[in-house]
Amino acid sequence: MRIDLHTHSSVSDGTDSPTELINAAAAAGMDVVALADHDTVSGWDEAGEAATAAGIELVPAIEVSTTWRGADLHMLAYWPDSADSPLEEMLAAIRAGRLSRIPQMLAALAAHGIRITEEQVRRAAGGAVSLGRPHVADALVAAGVVGSRDEAFATWVGEGMPGHVPKPAPTLPDAIAVVRAAGGLPVIAHPWGRGGRRVLDDEALAELAEAGLVGLEVDHMDHDEAARAELRAIADRLDLVATGGSDYHGSGKHDVHLAADTTSPQAYAALLERRARMGL
Ligand code: AMP
Ligand code: ZN
Ligand code: FE
Ligand code: FE
Repeated sequence: MRIDLHTHSSVSDGTDSPTELINAAAAAGMDVVALADHDTVSGWDEAGEAATAAGIELVPAIEVSTTWRGADLHMLAYWPDSADSPLEEMLAAIRAGRLSRIPQMLAALAAHGIRITEEQVRRAAGGAVSLGRPHVADALVAAGVVGSRDEAFATWVGEGMPGHVPKPAPTLPDAIAVVRAAGGLPVIAHPWGRGGRRVLDDEALAELAEAGLVGLEVDHMDHDEAARAELRAIADRLDLVATGGSDYHGSGKHDVHLAADTTSPQAYAALLERRARMGL
């Protein structure tokens, strides 16, 4: 069984359509794929149809943007009820914050002599419903300012760069509560990637486990072997499921292919068992 529980499509900042993503996963011999677009469920229906046609299993998921104790943290939510009103409202608010931040980013870039219009960003984003820095990066590439998304992040829109504007988001404990109430399984994405390690120590993770967290994404490109071993030990101790995923973004992140990191069949079975225990 090959199981990848973290991928993105063009509905957010990936470059494959949901159908292309599922077909690529089937062609690569994968059995289970979670579509976890940022702050939206818009890709689920198309991905579900493609998965049925291709004979693989789709796990409907979301990568929810959150903030906590001064860090931007991402939380994967597996199998939440997409019709749950508080969940819908939370996601709509995050997407609205993503939208209103684009002109702020463009103003910050303009102050540095880089002139990009909202129309250029919209064109670069194609049909995406969840807009983000990668789309501003793509507009910078299209305008010839930089040669790639990576270069755009390194120079203009990455952490601490002139065009980076933080986006408003719910706190991690609030997002856990909303996702649990919607019948979803919250798993922290790349907990020790970027700013996460400072905030998510043993004590904080124990607190979140108490608040309804179900798992930690241990196997992720942001973690080296030592971090994975430490996180796995913490997951064991707190009775959290240790998952894994590629964080595939199509050609948007050149060094990551589907199933570059995976979830073990045992961990997947543990997630299914948690779901059953929740009566879902
Ligand atoms: P945002 O959610 O709009 O703040 O943008 C964050 C997104 O940018 C995440 O999905 C990351 O995967 C993506 N990202 C971060 N760094 C890079 C990079 N160097 N190249 C491409 N994408 C990146
Ligand atoms: Zn992304
Ligand atoms: Fe993420
Ligand atoms: Fe991701």
